[in-house]
Amino acid sequence: MDYKKYITEVKDYPKEGISFKDITTLMEDGKAYKAAIDEMADFAKNKEVDVIVGPEARGFVVGCPISYALEVGFVPVRKAGKLPREVLRVDYGLEYGKDSLNIHVDSIKKGQKVLITDDLLATGGTIEATIKIVEELGGIVVGIAFMIELTYLDGRNKLGKYDVFTLMSY
Ligand code: 5GP
Repeated sequence: MDYKKYITEVKDYPKEGISFKDITTLMEDGKAYKAAIDEMADFAKNKEVDVIVGPEARGFVVGCPISYALEVGFVPVRKAGKLPREVLRVDYGLEYGKDSLNIHVDSIKKGQKVLITDDLLATGGTIEATIKIVEELGGIVVGIAFMIELTYLDGRNKLGKYDVFTLMSY
């Protein structure tokens, strides 16, 4: 499927010079959204995934339906102050800003195989921080799946040793 025709490019959002790839127009189309999720689930299905981890909020949009398809759990990674129990926290840099990610400390068991999901790979900062938080809890990252990769930002360089899947690149 030509997924790109469902993505809307928004110039100068959230600030000047950024060409934002809006996935909500893909999500609005049930067939395109399902096809995208099915393809990502296919990538993961032979990896014996125990649990899927995705960063707030678009990592949920991708990771939760894959988790349903594969019948494995989903663990949310969230911004500060959103998770109710004891968390592990890592700080990271974004394409446009700085932030921190948090995960419940007991959400991943040592040795569990983890699939990480997000909508888009830009500089790789978000996913690098997500990998770090998963590995600090003893999880083994067996794959990382994105809908979109911005190749001109070279985020894949940071993910050299991991099995990375993307549906489309810009
Ligand atoms: P990175 O950390 O790789 O620089 O940025 C990726 C993160 O920022 C992802 O969590 C993604 O949701 C968000 N992001 C950055 N640029 C875009 C974009 O153009 N479109 C969308 N949908 N998300 C973006």
